[in-house]
Amino acid sequence: MEQEKLNQIWSKIKEIVFNELEPQTIELWVSPISIKELKDNIIVLLVPNKYFSNWLIANDYLEKIQQLFCEHINQNIEISFEYNQEIPDQQEFVKIDYEYIPEKAFISKESFNPSYTFENFITDESNRFAKAVCETAAKQPGTAYNPIFIYAPVGLGKTHLLHAVGNKMLELSKKFRIAYITADKFVSDYISAIQKNSLDIFRSKFQNAIALLLDDVQFLIGKEKSQEEFFHIFNILFDNKKQIIITSDRKPNELKGIEERVVSRFEWGVIADIGRPSFELRLAILKHKANKQRIYVPEDVLRYIAENITENIRRLEGAFLNVVTKSLTENIPLTIDTVKEMLKNFIEPKPHPVDIKKIIDVVAEEFKLSQKELLSKKRSEMLALPRQFGMYLAKVLTDLSYAEISEHFGRKDHTTSYHAYLKIKKLISTNPYYSQIINRMIEKIRQ
Ligand code: ADP
Ligand code: MG
Repeated sequence: MEQEKLNQIWSKIKEIVFNELEPQTIELWVSPISIKELKDNIIVLLVPNKYFSNWLIANDYLEKIQQLFCEHINQNIEISFEYNQEIPDQQEFVKIDYEYIPEKAFISKESFNPSYTFENFITDESNRFAKAVCETAAKQPGTAYNPIFIYAPVGLGKTHLLHAVGNKMLELSKKFRIAYITADKFVSDYISAIQKNSLDIFRSKFQNAIALLLDDVQFLIGKEKSQEEFFHIFNILFDNKKQIIITSDRKPNELKGIEERVVSRFEWGVIADIGRPSFELRLAILKHKANKQRIYVPEDVLRYIAENITENIRRLEGAFLNVVTKSLTENIPLTIDTVKEMLKNFIEPKPHPVDIKKIIDVVAEEFKLSQKELLSKKRSEMLALPRQFGMYLAKVLTDLSYAEISEHFGRKDHTTSYHAYLKIKKLISTNPYYSQIINRMIEKIRQ
């Protein structure tokens, strides 16, 4: 079969199989997969490395893909993989030395937050994959996924996952030494080791660990010496098939100020992001918390908190704690009204509603027209365009309906402002001159 035909079939299959995934996930995991050939009933999928094939298998995609190929090609086919990236082979199960090590573990059990466990990590599409790879790594360190690189904005569970790995490993054996460290602590420990002439001790702490969990790697940016040391430690651990997990607030290729060779190590393995939490996830986290702490909070109050605190789970938890503590200590019943008041300082204020009169003022001024001209019935282009700008701004800056907007501009029909809105929207998305004018007016209106 021709390559082009095969590619077409593959595109169709991708659409069916992966249609529910987030665009970032598709970009990360699906886009790099291509079809090499169909030969003797075998479809060869070309993937960067074995993480991709494992990912397809682990998520039950392979069977679906195979089935769809059979349907499209009308014959029984099998799927095999070919890899186009060389990565050091870690496939075989590594026997780790579980012997008792008399020295104190680098991180003792007490150091991991006992509530940061996998059980307490609630998932949706935004974080399921990150959790799954970490959980596998905790159970089979250094085998399936290594290294793991997790990136996400602040407050979305990176540290929680690293601690969950630590907790799980210690649950499997108390004798494991696990090197958990934040990158800024790494830098300061490294500097003090140099000052005290004790680099050997510093290094041996890492080299004797079965896992290195480095939190917030972005703190290595610009710290060349520390990066060099880290590179060295990374290589030793990796070569010895120890598990490495790194978290970051940005993607590897955005870690400007970290040496290329270090970044490329991160890209050897699995890269997983954590996206913004959905409303359902936020609500589920609150319910889980309430349950755990055996506190009854009415559902509508939980929904209110989840609806209003959207960006970051740490803030969501903060808001919840605040509400519960206030209600208990001051004996305030939990209703939407009381909670609204308690969360005054937590909820980002919505921008002030804009007054349509202000919009008319600013538009008239911008186009050097009088208000009378702007609101007149005359249809000349010189007046029509500014008027349409006004209607557009009214739509995006106020809660007015199309009918109300038309009325403010002296028009009877709601479709007038609707068409104006569509026209200007198109105009500013295709013409930077007009988008500049719009931005300038919005700024003035908001002042
Ligand atoms: P980060 O390290 O990414 O800044 P943290 O791991 O410190 O974020 O998470 C902030 C808080 O949110 C922690 O208390 C953590 O337990 C909680 N949290 C984050 N994600 C989840 C989740 N999916 N389920 C439950 N709690 C979560
Ligand atoms: Mg953190």
